[in-house]
Amino acid sequence: MKRMVILGAAESGVGAAVLALKKGFEVFVSDMGNIKAGYKDILDKYGIEWEENKHTEEKIVSADEIVKSPGIPDNAPIVLKASDAGIPIISEIEFAGRYTNAQMICITGSNGKTTTTSLIYHIFKEAGYNVGLAGNIGRSLALQIAEGCSYTHYVIELSSFQLDNMYDFRANIAILLNITPDHLDRYDNNMQNYTDSKMRIIRNQTEEDAFIYWADDPIIKKELKKYGIKSKKCPFSILSKKGMIGYICDGTYTIEQPTPFNMEQESLSLHGKHNMYNSLAAGIAARIAGVSDENLRKSLSDFEGVEHRLEKVATVGGVHFINDSKATNVDACWYALESMETPTILIIGGKDKGNDYEAIRELVKQKCAGIVYLGADNTKLHNFFDKMGIPTADTHSMKDCVAACVKMAKPGYTVLLSPCCASFDLFKNMEDRGEQFKALVKAL
Ligand code: ADP
Repeated sequence: MKRMVILGAAESGVGAAVLALKKGFEVFVSDMGNIKAGYKDILDKYGIEWEENKHTEEKIVSADEIVKSPGIPDNAPIVLKASDAGIPIISEIEFAGRYTNAQMICITGSNGKTTTTSLIYHIFKEAGYNVGLAGNIGRSLALQIAEGCSYTHYVIELSSFQLDNMYDFRANIAILLNITPDHLDRYDNNMQNYTDSKMRIIRNQTEEDAFIYWADDPIIKKELKKYGIKSKKCPFSILSKKGMIGYICDGTYTIEQPTPFNMEQESLSLHGKHNMYNSLAAGIAARIAGVSDENLRKSLSDFEGVEHRLEKVATVGGVHFINDSKATNVDACWYALESMETPTILIIGGKDKGNDYEAIRELVKQKCAGIVYLGADNTKLHNFFDKMGIPTADTHSMKDCVAACVKMAKPGYTVLLSPCCASFDLFKNMEDRGEQFKALVKAL
């Protein structure tokens, strides 16, 4: 009997453990932290051996194969030991992909993955497809397959960490939205390593598959020259129509192939430049899968968006409040600011991942009537933004932050929480940050 060890017992790890058991492996699950009660219950229900708050080396290096949770870095001591011992280390998606023939629609990029994945899922579901949602969002792919789900299509959000441990997996439709610096701490601070990881989305694609990508992204453009891409290239752009499969020009959203489709840009439910890209990527995928004109038009115009991504919270005293707590890097904030149509009070700050704020300097100048810093330590923000001549406030809790915004904002203004930073200095996670913001705004 082959031994499968699972490192990390959250959604993906527990799913992989159950699937491995069902496929006849001897399974052991190990987590360096606490395992949540709900996940322990699943493991116990299946009689799977597990440990928490430690990694027992001999139980791990005796594995034939290891499924590693995407949250565990490659340089974690136990991972180094396992790879020194020559044990193949794969991701949950790689493992689960062995046991399904469903069409795999996979989405990656530095920003926009969840929005695009959710939009595609919405389109397919509304069009009556038998579709599952997996990857970074939704339920574990492995668990869905273990439970015998009979989906014909899966829409899967893939992070670079998942892609790193994928080898034989094949995406029938691969979507690469953009590549901008993120998570560099996990890639030896080397942008090329991170880029290589993103490009793994096209690994194993054949002539029968499709590769949808943002044609204007300078990094993607450069990378494409290095690869002999076998799948059908499906570029999209909002700058040019030439050679594009999808584009938005003069107020019209157009997909050229495999069958032509167009609609008024105004009818798209998602607004902002970044969402034009997301809507194009989703529309091309839908057309490749055969979604009809009528279904695509309806779903692109009635999609409600995703929580914490440019989410409209409320208008209070004429001030619009927008929750973009998911903007945990500078690029995401750039797109949020770019889409602002009224004078904006920007809430910025948190746990900085080595940000260079230069990228948003111009937009801050153009769009912001005030900046409210929200972090445990706002020194870097003071150093960068204070000299711009825009009113600022220094806060260390969401309560003080919202109060400062209310003080600064005039009727017609927008208060935008788009912090450029991770949330762990003051909040549990970005959801907690967004929820605290929304609760305080709704109580105004
Ligand atoms: P991800 O899952 O890749 O983190 P999300 O869809 O959750 O992406 O969006 C994260 C943030 O990035 C949001 O703040 C959103 O406003 C911004 N964003 C969404 N789509 C794009 C895009 N195509 N390009 C750049 N930024 C985007």
